[in-house]
Amino acid sequence: MNKKQIAIFDKTFELFISSAEINDIVIELAQKINALKYSNVVFVSVLNGSFMFTSDLCKRIECNPEIQFIKVASYSGVHSQGKVQELIGLKKDLQGKHVFIIEDIIDSGNTIETLYETLKAHYPSSISVVTLLFKPSAYEALVPIEFVGKNIQNDFVVGYGMDYNELGRELPEIYKIVN
Ligand code: 5GP
Ligand code: MG
Repeated sequence: MNKKQIAIFDKTFELFISSAEINDIVIELAQKINALKYSNVVFVSVLNGSFMFTSDLCKRIECNPEIQFIKVASYSGVHSQGKVQELIGLKKDLQGKHVFIIEDIIDSGNTIETLYETLKAHYPSSISVVTLLFKPSAYEALVPIEFVGKNIQNDFVVGYGMDYNELGRELPEIYKIVN
């Protein structure tokens, strides 16, 4: 691994964020969450893309979170479809709890907006959004993104859980599309 360039289907991707850098980002995010010293914490991890990030982040979290996994999808290929499909797998016992939505990447904000509203209806004490990557120039929603690992430009990326047509999720580093 750690190749300079990779090909997936018809696209070429170049190395963008090394696993060492991802590790540093994860440590920093965990420290910020730990500093809150919350109890009654629920992590809501958004599958599929967040599986690797959630796994690495959780290992460094000290507040004994419940960890739930949900599934939504707004992406097919390399462009956001701009609509969010139904939310699968949410357990409803969020009342009085500090909810952290764990995302791999936030682009238009369609997904996070729907999720935020849905979770809010379950009366949690608070909802915070944690995302490994954020594309500020693509973001159109109003939900505050409190914990951002790294801001990136509006480029399509794969690896570390994120796919291109379901491939590339296993890569330990993140690659960006070569235009
Ligand atoms: P949004 O609803 O914010 O437009 O997109 C959110 C979801 O689309 C993310 O959780 C992620 O699964 C997917 N997504 C957004 N940007 C990218 C990207 O650059 N690469 C990949 N692989 N998925 C992305
Ligand atoms: Mg995602």
